[in-house]
Amino acid sequence: MTNFSVFDRCIVCESTKLKDLPNYEKAYLCQCRNCDMVFTKRIPSKEELESYYSNYGTNHYRSKLTIKRYNELLDVFEKNRKTNNILDIGCGVGFFLEEAKKKGWNVYGSEYGEKLVTICEEKGIKMHNGTIAEFTSEVKFDIITSFEVIEHINDPISELKKVHKLLRPKGLFYCTTPNFNSVLRFYLKKDYNVISYPEHLSYYTPKTIHQLFKRNHFKKNWIKTTGISITRLKTSLGKSKEKMVSDRSSDELIRNKIESNNILLGMKRLANKLLSLLGLGMTIKALYEKV
Ligand SMILES: [Zn+2]
Repeated sequence: MTNFSVFDRCIVCESTKLKDLPNYEKAYLCQCRNCDMVFTKRIPSKEELESYYSNYGTNHYRSKLTIKRYNELLDVFEKNRKTNNILDIGCGVGFFLEEAKKKGWNVYGSEYGEKLVTICEEKGIKMHNGTIAEFTSEVKFDIITSFEVIEHINDPISELKKVHKLLRPKGLFYCTTPNFNSVLRFYLKKDYNVISYPEHLSYYTPKTIHQLFKRNHFKKNWIKTTGISITRLKTSLGKSKEKMVSDRSSDELIRNKIESNNILLGMKRLANKLLSLLGLGMTIKALYEKV
């Protein structure tokens, strides 16, 4: 086996009491005995990451429902509009920021690589090419968002410190990430394909993400877990190779069906409430305020 570097302390609380997680050796998962944080003990080399991300596809599928959700979220942010600046970390092709721009926000984004940066710039988004650690800004932000990004990094403390610095006093940070305590993982165990190295390096639960935020001077507005992905279930079981996000994925077909039927929509909301209550939904959605 080749030598590689490993973490000797927790990436959230810095405790040295780590244990390897059985069933997840392939992804090098360990858990902190102090705060329960789960992360990959192995630190991927620059070469590993470059080789992985050079094949990382960009999703250009614009889901109508996702756009609707973005707009609902922007409505939540409305009362926090002061500087009028919003930043999306890892903004992809800029779908969220396009919606924000329509509502009059000054939109900023960060991404890796010329290709995505150019696509976003053409949409009128002020872009930073590279990690958020290298991002410097003259302005402060009312809102910073990060959709499915923090699971890709293994240094969440510096990330949060940077977010804290970029926000105006009482500015908001909205973040989504897979929930390690998802009902799907309990069911699929080691086959749950959210767990994948070196794609995902940190695995949060509502409890561990709250600790991370609290330790870094954020206070909770709300946190919830939502959804079960049928596409994820099928791809994890190896029964399907469908893309996670596309107009033909099972999830998208189901979402569209539910959205156009009030009874199903009511049932979905109830199921989501229950999942959230139990903390078992697939995705953590968290809104925190800078203190
Ligand atoms: Zn810890």
